[in-house]
Amino acid sequence: MLSRFKYLKPHNLNEAVQYLEKEEKSFVLAGGTDLMILLRRNLINAEHIVDIKGLPEMAEFEFIDGAGLTIGASVVVNTVVDSEVVKTKYPALHQASASLASFLLRNRATVVGNICNASPGADLPPALLVYDAVVNIAGPQGMRQVPLHEFFTGVKRTVLQRGELVISVQLPDPGDGDKSIYLRQARLRGHDLATVGVASRIKPDGKVAIGICAVAPTPLRLFALEEKINERELNQETVEWAAEEIKQHIHPITDVRSSAQYRLQMASVLLKRGLSHLITKEDNHG
Ligand SMILES: Cc1cc2nc3c(=O)[nH]c(=O)nc-3n(C[C@H](O)[C@H](O)[C@H](O)COP(=O)(O)OP(=O)(O)OC[C@H]3O[C@@H](n4cnc5c(N)ncnc54)[C@H](O)[C@@H]3O)c2cc1C
Repeated sequence: MLSRFKYLKPHNLNEAVQYLEKEEKSFVLAGGTDLMILLRRNLINAEHIVDIKGLPEMAEFEFIDGAGLTIGASVVVNTVVDSEVVKTKYPALHQASASLASFLLRNRATVVGNICNASPGADLPPALLVYDAVVNIAGPQGMRQVPLHEFFTGVKRTVLQRGELVISVQLPDPGDGDKSIYLRQARLRGHDLATVGVASRIKPDGKVAIGICAVAPTPLRLFALEEKINERELNQETVEWAAEEIKQHIHPITDVRSSAQYRLQMASVLLKRGLSHLITKEDNHG
């Protein structure tokens, strides 16, 4: 049974921020696909729920040439899946979004909710991380921006302070000649969280970026591994080397979904598969 809470649907951002700051036990509601489960199971002590779907700033979904893509906090995952710009410019994000749960769930779940929930195994962070995503946050002190790789602080923990909420996530324009891919391993087809998910990107300047989930308390951008790869010529030999080297850069745990050993092995396989695909690919389509 749901515990009792007060429900607020503000129509301007100030009202939302003030309410979240004033009421200690308040939670933001976007699509509710994570939050409602926590409420129903009484896993959180929520006395106030602030529904952000009425805030106009949250609905932004826009790509500007040269500037990039903005995804507002009420934009649902299916909007991203259906976007031609995302398919063409940010294929790893398209693939990660299309892999999330089911069509019905994606019609409700938001991209920003997937970040704010801060699950170590969430599918969207690896893809957003390789595109150098930045999180736009509003709070009692005004607006601030945090790079996504600094946003996660632990399992289900983020840098968000009392009174703060995320307005949008922003991705720079990758430019022409960018290539990327998201590959995930799960126990079941469809409705299962990833055992491991790896986003691989080769930027127009030939540099590699790698994002990964379910191998640490937070989704990770593997900067140290990228640096080592980028010191080498990017060919199949380097890819084989990187697929072994990644095991030194992650420290997965054993849980209900997988053993740590299997996660290590799958991270290696998915990186090899992803980078091999990208280095033999002429363009970013398909
Ligand atoms: C059956 C099922 C299958 C699933 N499969 C997958 C899967 O395959 N891959 C995957 O990654 N996820 C999966 N999920 C998880 C879930 O659907 C996603 O995490 C979803 O994207 C969360 O978005 P939401 O809008 O529903 O967030 P909500 O549930 O509304 O919120 C999630 C959390 O983020 C906070 N929050 C939301 N928006 C903001 C904001 N703007 N500012 C500050 N805090 C905010 C909320 O307070 C809450 O703590 C699954 C869930 C279910 C129920």
